[in-house]
Amino acid sequence: MTTPASELIQYLESVAPLHLQEKYDNSGLLVGSSSADVKGVLICLDCTEDVLDEAVQKGCNVVISHHPAIFYGLKQITGTSLTERLVIKAIKEDLILYAIHTNLDNILQNGVNERIAKQLDLNVEGILRPISTGTNEICGAGIIGAYSSPKTESEFLGLLKARMKTGVIRHSKLLGRPLQRVAVCGGSGSFLLEDAIREGAQVFVTADYKYHGFFDADDKLIICDIGHYESEQYTINVLHELISSKFATFAAHCTQLNTNPVHYFT
Ligand SMILES: [Zn+2]
Repeated sequence: MTTPASELIQYLESVAPLHLQEKYDNSGLLVGSSSADVKGVLICLDCTEDVLDEAVQKGCNVVISHHPAIFYGLKQITGTSLTERLVIKAIKEDLILYAIHTNLDNILQNGVNERIAKQLDLNVEGILRPISTGTNEICGAGIIGAYSSPKTESEFLGLLKARMKTGVIRHSKLLGRPLQRVAVCGGSGSFLLEDAIREGAQVFVTADYKYHGFFDADDKLIICDIGHYESEQYTINVLHELISSKFATFAAHCTQLNTNPVHYFT
C-alpha cells in the first residue's frame, strides 16, 4: 500500500485550508510533485539544509515545515542564498517541500495557538481576532483563554518559562495584579495587542516584540515575549499527531534538530 503525496496534502488542507493563510504568506506545496508516493515525512518549524539532510537519513521524501522554505519570488537558482540552496538540494534528493504556516495559525482546533494554550493549562474561550470566511468556520489570529482561578504574576511567569522551555522572558512592567485572562499568539503577534486589551487579557504571550512596542502595554496588561521559536515549538507535535493518527502507510518523524536561529549568551 502506498499513499500519494496528494492524499497527505488533501488531508492537511482539510485541517488547515489554504484560503485561511494571510495574503503575504506562501503556504502549500513548494517543491516536488504531489503524485509521488510518500515514503516518510519529516516535520519541522524551519526548513534548513541540515533538516533536509536529516530527511534523507531517515528515509523521508516529504518535509513539512511551518515556515515556508520559499517565501519570496526567486529570479535565479544558483545557490547563492539559503533558499536557492534548499531548492537545489530538495530537487537533487527528490524531496517534496510543503509549508503549513498562517493557515495553521488561523485555525482554532489543532492550531498553533490552541497548543500553546494547552501547554499553559488555559481554558480556551475563542479567537482573538476572528476572520470572516463566509462559512461557520471559527478561525482567525490569536487565542483568548482563562484560568479557573487567578495566578500571581510570579506563578504565571514561572509556569510560562517552564512549559514553553524558554531561557528568558522579555516582559513589560509587572503590575502587581492577579492574572486570569491570557491572550496568546505564537510567532510575531504584536499586531494583536489592541485585541488582547479589548478581550480583557491581563497578559499577552507572543514573540518578536520591539522595544517601543513594550510601552504600548500602558499598564493595561503585561506583554510577555517568549521567543519566536519557543512559542511555536509544539507546532511540530500538533502536525505529528495529526499525520500519525491518519496515515499508516508511512512514518512521520519530528525533526531532532533545534532550528532556532536565535542564541542566548547567559
Ligand atoms: Zn513563526
